[in-house]
Amino acid sequence: PIVLGIETSCDETGIGLVRGHTLLADTIASSIDEHARFGGVVPEVASRAHLDAMSPTVESALAKAGLRLADIDAIAVTAGPGLAGALLVGVAAAKAYALGLGVPLYGVNHLAAHVAVDQLEHGPLPKPCLAMLVSGGHSSLLLVPDVAKEVISLGSTVDDAAGEAFDKVARVLGLPFPGGPHIDRAARDGSGTAIAFPRGKADDGTLDFSFSGLKTAVARYVEKHGGSLSIPDVAASFQEAVVDVLTRKALAACAQHDVHDLLIGGGVAANSRLRALAQERCDAAGVRLRVPRPGLCTDNGAMVAALGANLLEAGIAPSPLTIPADSSLPITTIHV
Ligand code: ATP
Ligand code: MG
Ligand code: FE
Repeated sequence: PIVLGIETSCDETGIGLVRGHTLLADTIASSIDEHARFGGVVPEVASRAHLDAMSPTVESALAKAGLRLADIDAIAVTAGPGLAGALLVGVAAAKAYALGLGVPLYGVNHLAAHVAVDQLEHGPLPKPCLAMLVSGGHSSLLLVPDVAKEVISLGSTVDDAAGEAFDKVARVLGLPFPGGPHIDRAARDGSGTAIAFPRGKADDGTLDFSFSGLKTAVARYVEKHGGSLSIPDVAASFQEAVVDVLTRKALAACAQHDVHDLLIGGGVAANSRLRALAQERCDAAGVRLRVPRPGLCTDNGAMVAALGANLLEAGIAPSPLTIPADSSLPITTIHV
């Protein structure tokens, strides 16, 4: 079956088309340039941009896949979590397509979709697998017995998300928004051991994270060293602190739950140092690592279509056409 996925939880209007778990098209229109000068995503601007981009992006995905609307067997849409107004545009569009085409609608969880997307690249997910979701709004360790049916939260950040920390530190360093890719790039010319930044909650025995102390430590360091600091060294040392804690806790979770497959998803999974260190530590621990290519880590429609395909395959009943958008949909609610 062919599933059309619609993603509008933040600034990306993402449209994905899959046949089973084969990716046919993944088209993205982003309003990020309109938000950059505000240093963050402006909800009203994002909603309007989704409205403008929706049908052209669907059209271009269909053209890319060589399909017509009539070929679509199901619609999947991000129902939450995310920006309320932005989600609403996607959910309304999804209902319209489902009703107009007479096909089932699946309202899905954006975070579970960040996990499901890996199947498009690396095939079926091992059952169970351990998933670390690190994105702009979330940082969680998840035990995933079956991405269509059950996601269990093992731990999460008690303050800032990993991506949020990247974005805030980038701002302190005068790098553009969103900061993650800029820090990643700047760090390549610096040393991860130049500055000993704190590793929050690293050894507290939980599977939770904390990044706000690190963010504050970087801000203090920048204040103190002003003009004489090396941006590459600060970027690399900050990045090392984040990925050190992330990978340590992810492998601790694997060991505690006796799981030998680790999947990393969400925008921060695009980070080159996280990918390298995770590979190194997984190899040492005998854990198989799966990380989607960077373009599938950040928000996209293919991830939503991928999760929709899992729900169809599992024979899960479609969503009613009355589903709301839920800006704070919990990670354990895979579909609505
Ligand atoms: P959520 O998925 O929690 O709702 P979101 O959808 O805004 O949040 P994503 O699109 O999954 O988040 O990820 C965006 C985040 O990923 C941003 O914080 C961005 O800075 C970060 N990011 C993107 N690329 C990189 C990178 N190479 N290194 C570090 N962080 C990155
Ligand atoms: Mg985004
Ligand atoms: Fe996301």
